Amino acid sequence: MGLVAENLAAVRARIDQACRAAGRDPAEVRLLPVTKGHGPDLIGEAYAAGARIFGENKAQEVADKAGQLADKPGLAWAVIGHLQTNKAKVVAQLAAEFHALDSAKVAEALDRRLDNEGRDLDVFLQVNSSGEESKYGLDPADVEQFAKSMRQYRSLRVRGLMTLAVFSDDQAAVARCFERMQQLQVRLQNTDLAAGSYAELSMGMSGDFELAIRYGATTVRVGQAIFGPRPEPDETGHR
Ligand SMILES: *Cc1c(COP(=O)(O)O)cnc(C)c1O
Repeated sequence: MGLVAENLAAVRARIDQACRAAGRDPAEVRLLPVTKGHGPDLIGEAYAAGARIFGENKAQEVADKAGQLADKPGLAWAVIGHLQTNKAKVVAQLAAEFHALDSAKVAEALDRRLDNEGRDLDVFLQVNSSGEESKYGLDPADVEQFAKSMRQYRSLRVRGLMTLAVFSDDQAAVARCFERMQQLQVRLQNTDLAAGSYAELSMGMSGDFELAIRYGATTVRVGQAIFGPRPEPDETGHR
């Protein structure tokens, strides 16, 4: 077994263990391998090991890699990073999921492009759960209003919420971010929004996915623990 396949299996085992520790069914938690910064060879190894959907935080990187990996049937992309409206077309054409929806401007641009393409897109509303200035995402206080506004976008299918917790060694501070998301999810599920489902929580990365699972994560986005360090640091401050 190659290193990527071994790492995928090891991360999956840790997810299953975290589920058992939290009294959850491991089938509820999906592993989304994050391939940003890595080339088609490593992605091909993960594909050979059975992975079919990959997370990328830049639309342009998806466009490049979709071309390089066009020979792989069933391979899908989740765009998990902030999107500029001028890149909405790429996401509308190539992505199966978008995890970083946090503005009406981007929602409108995506919806219009998707309508042109005759496609639908699964989306997650990104929430700034840590309150850090540097982070994208909706203010938790604005999420309910934004969720209500989603009904006007016919091509966007809301699946749930997404966040990046504070990047810190302080486990309690990280846990507070995830707990805030879980509370927000419960509130949305008890509100008549007339659009979308809030069954999903996309949260948890290499350094904190076990904690995220304790607070209800249904998709964990894991890069380094599978693919090793990235060649360049990105805007999340993670390597
Ligand atoms: C890079 C990235 C991840 C994965 O981070 P790792 O620390 O490599 O696991 C998850 N989510 C987003 C939005 C990212 O940009």
